[in-house]
Amino acid sequence: MSKKYPTTCELCLRENVKTTLHHLTPKEEGGTFLPTAYLCIPCHKQIHALFSNKEIVILGLTTIEALREQEEMKKFLSWIRKQPGSKVPYIKKSNARRKKK
Ligand SMILES: [Zn+2]
Ligand SMILES: [Zn+2]
Repeated sequence: MSKKYPTTCELCLRENVKTTLHHLTPKEEGGTFLPTAYLCIPCHKQIHALFSNKEIVILGLTTIEALREQEEMKKFLSWIRKQPGSKVPYIKKSNARRKKK
């Protein structure tokens, strides 16, 4: 893992953050060779807390633009943009997940 990751999150656009590689189309859904994005840890966690790999595909959240337009991600992004890059907020998986009926 010596590859240099960018320090700007492609989703919230915060700078000087640690980024991780996100497969916009999950690998499990055939996205191995499809576009990826470098996301800060909170953004990345938030996506996977809100959506299962299947939901990402079904809801068409396979581009940065689509993720930004998604209602719950919008709320999250307006909040995370105010957070300093050095802070890694704790994201509770159970609470963030949408309730299924
Ligand atoms: Zn981010
Ligand atoms: Zn991911």
